[in-house]
Amino acid sequence: MDCIFCDIIEKKSKAEVLFENKSVISFLDIRPVNYGHALVIPKNHYIDFLSIPLIELNNIIEVTQKISYAINKSINPDGLNVITNNGQAAGQSVFHFHFHIIPRFYKDSFTFKPVLKNYERDSITEFAEIIRSEIKLERV
Ligand code: AMP
Ligand code: ZN
Repeated sequence: MDCIFCDIIEKKSKAEVLFENKSVISFLDIRPVNYGHALVIPKNHYIDFLSIPLIELNNIIEVTQKISYAINKSINPDGLNVITNNGQAAGQSVFHFHFHIIPRFYKDSFTFKPVLKNYERDSITEFAEIIRSEIKLERV
């Protein structure tokens, strides 16, 4: 399986590593939205947010907050986006789960301005009901 992030973990490919422990690694995104844009990934290969086990996600969240503090302190942005793209339609291009930590500035090139919809009549409740029916406390 070809995976650029697995290559980085195995040191077959170079990266500007910010932090590493036994299960998580963080490095700078090679094509940043803004300088200091970082990625945080599990060392085990999982495709996306839906397939990563909760215990691994907990480890990643902890490191993601740690790196976010460091970026905030060192780069002093106006804000931060912490995001994960899941699936090609959502903009995922590397299919090894990752969080992006993107330092944001009032005047930067990143636009995220959707045309927002309105729910018609009671359809908000219908959407809530079909989603609620799928909520189960399953995996740990
Ligand atoms: P996504 O599009 O959400 O899957 O994000 C993948 C990110 O990985 C993109 O922002 C790429 O710029 C970044 N990326 C791809 N290859 C590398 C690499 N070799 N080193 C660092 N970042 C990379
Ligand atoms: Zn991988």
